[in-house]
Amino acid sequence: MLKDFFEQFADLIYKQKCVVCGCSKTNQILCKNCLKSVQKLSPFAQRKVQGVNIFCAFRYEDTIKNLIRNFKFNKRKSAAKPAASLLFEYFKQVCKENDLNLNPKNSILVCIPSHPFRIFQRGYCHTELILKEFSYLTGIKADFNVIKKTKNTTPQYKIRADKKAQNVRGAFKVRLNKKYKNKTIILIDDLTTTGATLNEAVCELKKASYDNIICFTLAC
Ligand SMILES: [Zn+2]
Repeated sequence: MLKDFFEQFADLIYKQKCVVCGCSKTNQILCKNCLKSVQKLSPFAQRKVQGVNIFCAFRYEDTIKNLIRNFKFNKRKSAAKPAASLLFEYFKQVCKENDLNLNPKNSILVCIPSHPFRIFQRGYCHTELILKEFSYLTGIKADFNVIKKTKNTTPQYKIRADKKAQNVRGAFKVRLNKKYKNKTIILIDDLTTTGATLNEAVCELKKASYDNIICFTLAC
């Protein structure tokens, strides 16, 4: 608490440092140079799990990789803002190019959450922070109670590709909210590699009879 307070106080006095390169030249959470170096992906589905499209905004390299890592492992909570706004730019492009009309009336936002123990360790759930910002930008309501992570799994990056699906099996519990029956569930995660985590979550969402699902990730 006290540390948080001093950090916030220091942010007021000192210039904002870029979450990726650490420079304070532009006084921005993500500096202009880093922003320029992100590797954008096309606004079309990069992956598919169980017939559900996964749209990934960036290649998991350099800037985006550092952004996600600092966000997840180095307590750079402020990375949620640039992460959400980058995703929002991509989201608008996807909607335009694919003729999708996802709006506050017909959609609901959910994310792949971390396990409560990890949230306790980190001090925050990074995907929930992205979701909050993304919800603010899109105007679409975010619901943090639809998906819960009930199994504290080994982080996917530590698991061999062919064992990832097994690692996340049974990791999520989904609650059906009848109000969302006719809405599109927009599922957000930071990163997808094999798609195993999203596949597991989509599987649980479908079992709970959510039929319209679309996934967005920051990187793949
Ligand atoms: Zn930078």
